[in-house]
Amino acid sequence: MVIVKRKELSLAEKLYLPEVLRGLSVTFRKMFEPKVTRQYPEEPLPKTEVTRGQPRLVVNEDDAIACVSCGLCEAACPAYAITIDGGETDRAIEREPKRFDIDMLRCILCGFCEEACPKDAIYMSDELELADYSREALIYDIEKLKRPKAALQKRIDYVNRINKRWQTPSST
Ligand code: SF4
Ligand code: SF4
Repeated sequence: MVIVKRKELSLAEKLYLPEVLRGLSVTFRKMFEPKVTRQYPEEPLPKTEVTRGQPRLVVNEDDAIACVSCGLCEAACPAYAITIDGGETDRAIEREPKRFDIDMLRCILCGFCEEACPKDAIYMSDELELADYSREALIYDIEKLKRPKAALQKRIDYVNRINKRWQTPSST
C-alpha cells in the first residue's frame, strides 16, 4: 500500500486567499485599461461602404425597380432565402418581379445575390438591425426590400470600384 503524504495547507490556502487576490489584481488592472466593449445599441456599429448588411432592391431614378426577375440571385443564394415570381411589365424588353421575398431569418448576408445580379438590382445595404415579433414578419416582401438607388449609392460605387480589379486592359 502506498501512502500519499499530502501537503499541510496554511489557513490562507484553505480560504483560497492567494487565488482570490490574484483574481482581484487582474480585475483591478483591467479597470484602467481602455474599454473594448461596445454599448450596443446606444453605440451603434460604424457603417462604411464595406458594411455588408441586409440585401435590398434598387429602385432607379425613374421609379422603376431595376430587377428583371431573371432569378440568378435566387439560384445563387446558398441559404435558399430568395423567392421570386416574374411578371410582365409595360416597359419595353423588360420584366419585373411580381413577388420578390427574402427570408431574413435564412439570409446569411453572404452577398452572393449582389455578385450574381447582372442588372445591378440588388445590393448589400448598411442596414444591420433585424428584430420583430414573428417569423412571418421577417420574410421581407418587395415593398420592404425596395430602396432608392441614392440610398445604396455608397455601396454601388464600392462594388464597381472593387470589380475593376478583375478587368483586363482589353475589357475596359
Ligand atoms: S446575402 Fe446571401 S443568403 Fe442573403 S439573400 Fe443574398 S445570397 Fe441569399
Ligand atoms: S439577379 Fe438581379 S435582376 Fe435577376 S432576379 Fe435577382 S435582383 Fe433581379
